[in-house]
Amino acid sequence: MTRNRKKKLAVRAEADGTGHARAARLHVPPPKEILTADLQERLISAFQAEGWPVESDGSPEFGTWTGWLGPVWSTLTRPGASDSDADPDDPDHHDLTTVPELTFITPKIPGIDAPEAMVLTLPGTTPLADIVRTVGEELGRARAAKVAALANDAKCSLCGDSYPATHLLPATEHDRLVLCPFCVFDGDILGGHPLRLAYLIDRLTDQDVAAPAGWSAVTALLACAAGPDFRARLEGDDGLLVPLPHWFDPALVWVWLPPGDLPPALQGLGPGTSLGTLVSAVEAAHPDLRDRFRAELAANLEEDEEDSDGEDTRDYLVEQLWPAAICYAVAAATQFRERPGGLSPWHLLGDGFEEGNLADNFDQVGSTLDADSLGPVFTLSIGVPLIAEALGFDPSS
Ligand SMILES: [Zn+2]
Repeated sequence: MTRNRKKKLAVRAEADGTGHARAARLHVPPPKEILTADLQERLISAFQAEGWPVESDGSPEFGTWTGWLGPVWSTLTRPGASDSDADPDDPDHHDLTTVPELTFITPKIPGIDAPEAMVLTLPGTTPLADIVRTVGEELGRARAAKVAALANDAKCSLCGDSYPATHLLPATEHDRLVLCPFCVFDGDILGGHPLRLAYLIDRLTDQDVAAPAGWSAVTALLACAAGPDFRARLEGDDGLLVPLPHWFDPALVWVWLPPGDLPPALQGLGPGTSLGTLVSAVEAAHPDLRDRFRAELAANLEEDEEDSDGEDTRDYLVEQLWPAAICYAVAAATQFRERPGGLSPWHLLGDGFEEGNLADNFDQVGSTLDADSLGPVFTLSIGVPLIAEALGFDPSS
């Protein structure tokens, strides 16, 4: 071969890339090891950063990491193990370069009567932002499909609104008095039993992704009102019952947002979010809500008490219950859109909070609030429609 010919070949090889390809082949990096412990931690943090209430076990069990992301149960495993119960990061049992597998399931506790509404499997190499977005979208779709398929075969004992029988709960000592979420604190309801109701709400929402949005507002109100004894009372005398953490930290309550267009304050939070995130979003978008509440209440009181001898200077806003008022405003909007044939939750909320009923329930959850002082009733009955209206919902509808 002449020198010219050699040179030509070299130029051609470089031009068509084969030279580069060969060089690259010589420097192929070894397959990357992926540790499931890291992945699980980053997964949980990513959902938390997007406002989801999260829980995670600190270690894998039977080869599986478990997470609880709002109403979603997540598992993380490494396929192809010689011993599937082994720690997925144990190199004696696993090829650590095998891509781990993530599975997202809702409801959290699928049953025989209500199998999974969503089973989503993603490779562990999926970018975290894509995982959070995809799980949110699929969860919204799963709920919408289940809500659309609901069959109403029972009526709320108080308002008579039709619901699936499993969606109405006995909120008092009487098993046959089953209520929708918006009748629980009505003045016509006596003998509230919030300690039992708490477990019934959790069982319903854990097992049914289409459960009425309003139950999260009942949860929020009881959790916000509760006092330091609440945990002991919920755990019961034998301590065998294990209540969910949102009863002691209402910021962790999962709130379904209205399907369809969301108001500016709630953009990007669908299909649901933690109450903590919801409250922050609402407060950031509408920092004047408390002032508006006080102004409206003052105007109402003036109208009601024409013969009063002076201005009522008491501050009736109960800060401890404000997150519950926000939760009611949003959950009612969600129910209004999800149940177009049902009674208007706004209408039910009109006199859905009564001092005697609240005092009874507050007493049982160990609350230190004085429900008879009118502050709680005012905070809810005036706060809820006011917050709803500020968000762009129509509480007169
Ligand atoms: Zn009702």
